[in-house]
Amino acid sequence: MYDVIIGGAGPAGIFASLEFIRQANDKKELKVLVLDMGPDVERRYCPSRELHKTCVKCPICTLQSGWGGAGTFSDGKITLTPNVGGWLADLIGNEGLTKLLKDVDNYFLEFGAPREIYGDDENKFEYWDKRARLSDLKLEKNILRHMGSDMSKQVLVNMKNFVSKYVEIRLGTKIEEVVVEGNKVRGVRLKSGEKISAKAVLLAPGRIGAQWLSSEAKRLGIKTNRNPVDLGVRVELPYEVMAQITDDLYEPKLKFFSKTFDDYIRTFCVNPRGEVISEFYEDVVTVNGHSLKNGTSGNTNFAILVSTHFTEPFNDPIAFGKSIAKLANLISNGVIVQRLSDLLQGRRSTKERINKSITEPTLKDATPGDLSFVLPHRILTDIIEMLRALDKLTPGVVSQNTLLYGVEAKFYSSRIETDKHLQTNVKGLFVAGDGAGITRGIAQAAASGMHAARSIAELLNNEVLD
Ligand SMILES: Cc1cc2nc3c(=O)[nH]c(=O)nc-3n(C[C@H](O)[C@H](O)[C@H](O)COP(=O)(O)OP(=O)(O)OC[C@H]3O[C@@H](n4cnc5c(N)ncnc54)[C@H](O)[C@@H]3O)c2cc1C
Repeated sequence: MYDVIIGGAGPAGIFASLEFIRQANDKKELKVLVLDMGPDVERRYCPSRELHKTCVKCPICTLQSGWGGAGTFSDGKITLTPNVGGWLADLIGNEGLTKLLKDVDNYFLEFGAPREIYGDDENKFEYWDKRARLSDLKLEKNILRHMGSDMSKQVLVNMKNFVSKYVEIRLGTKIEEVVVEGNKVRGVRLKSGEKISAKAVLLAPGRIGAQWLSSEAKRLGIKTNRNPVDLGVRVELPYEVMAQITDDLYEPKLKFFSKTFDDYIRTFCVNPRGEVISEFYEDVVTVNGHSLKNGTSGNTNFAILVSTHFTEPFNDPIAFGKSIAKLANLISNGVIVQRLSDLLQGRRSTKERINKSITEPTLKDATPGDLSFVLPHRILTDIIEMLRALDKLTPGVVSQNTLLYGVEAKFYSSRIETDKHLQTNVKGLFVAGDGAGITRGIAQAAASGMHAARSIAELLNNEVLD
C-alpha cells in the first residue's frame, strides 16, 4: 500500500515527487511511487527525429514518454510569468501561481539550470510595449529561463538521481486503469494486470496520455470540457531582422486581433539562432522549432498561431487540426515551405524560388509548395495580417526572404473538471499538467504537480484520505 501513486514522469509528475520529498522533511514521510510507460531519460531516442524520416510508430513514443515527459527534447524555456503556459491561474489565482512559479524556478536552479534570466528588464519592456501598441500589437510580459535542448536533459538526469533516493520509480510501466470503489480511489491497475494500492493517485499523463485520461474520466463520471486548437505556420527569417527585439526580450510574446475576422492570434516559441524541426503527432507530421543554449544558426524562427474555439454542433478541435495537418502531409509528404512573397503573389514556391531567398531553410526536408491549398482562408488571412503588423514593429518581416513552414498545430487536451486543489469528484484522485488540459508548458505543468502534491500531503497528514 502506497500513500500516493504518481502516473507520469513529465514535469508535473517530477515536481510533485520533489514536493513530496520536501514535505517529508517537515512532516511525516510518505510512501510514493512514480510510474511512467516510457524509458529512463538516458535511453530515450526517437528514430524519426534522428534519421529525419517519417514517424516509424514505435509501440511507445519515446519522444513524448519517459522520465522528463514531452519536455525532455524540448527547448527548455521555463516561463516564469503566470499569463503564459496554461490555465492554472483560473483555479488558484494569479498571485498563487506567481508564488508557485518561483518555487518551480528554485528547483530548476537547484538542479543545475543556467542562472541567466530573460525578459525582466522593465525599461526594455516599456520601450517595446509602446512600439507594439503603435503596430496594433499587444506585448505580454514574458520572463523566462532558457535551458536549451542540450541543458534540459542534464537537469532531468540530476533530478532523477535525486528523486530515486527517496521515491520508488518504475519506468516502462503503463497504467491501464484507475481503481475506484464507492467513489474513493483505491489505486491503479497496470497493463500487465498487476494492481497497486494507494490512498491517493495523481494522474499527470501529458498530451500523449490525454485521450486515455479523458476516457478514464468518462468511465468514472468526471466531467470534461474542450480547450481550443491552435493552428498556423512557423516563420523563419534572418536573425538580424528581429535581433533588436530578441536581444532585448529573447522571446517576445505578441498578441494580435485580426481586422477581418477579429480572431485572436499570437506569436509562440521564438527561437533566435534556432532551427525549424518536424514533429510527429500520432499519424500526422507538423512543424515546430527549437534553439540550443549556444545556438549557431543564422536564422530566427517563431510560430504564428490562430486559436479556434469550436462551440456547437462541432466539438472536436483535435480532429479539425489533424485534418488540416494531414492535408499538408498529403500534398507535400510532410511539411510545406513557402516564401512569404510567393504566398502573397498567389503562386507556389519551388526549389529555385526558395534558393533565391537569403534565408537558408534549417528544415532541410520540407517541400516547397503552396500553403493556400492547405490553410483555411480565415486562418491564412489572420496570419498575413499579423505578419504585416509585425513588419511595422520590426521592419523586414514581410519580405521575399521570409519563409513559412506549415502546418504548425498545438492540440490541447480536454479540461478535466477539478476543485481548486486539483482533486476530481472521485475522492483521492487528483490530476495535473497538460494531459488534464490545465497547462500547456513546462513551468505551469510543474507548478500544477507541486500544487496537487501539497494538497495531497495535507489531506494525508490529516488522515482525510485513509
Ligand atoms: C517539441 C516540444 C517542445 C516544447 N518546448 C517547450 C518549451 O520550450 N517550454 C515549455 O514550457 N514547454 C514546451 N513544451 C511543452 C512541454 O513539454 C509540456 O507542456 C510539458 O512537458 C507537460 O508536462 P506534463 O508533466 O503535463 O506531461 P508530459 O511532459 O507529457 O509527461 C507525461 C508523462 O506521462 C506518461 N504517461 C502517459 N500516460 C501514461 C500511462 N497510462 N501510464 C504511465 N505513464 C503514462 C508519459 O509517458 C509521459 O512521460 C514542448 C513540447 C514539445 C513536444
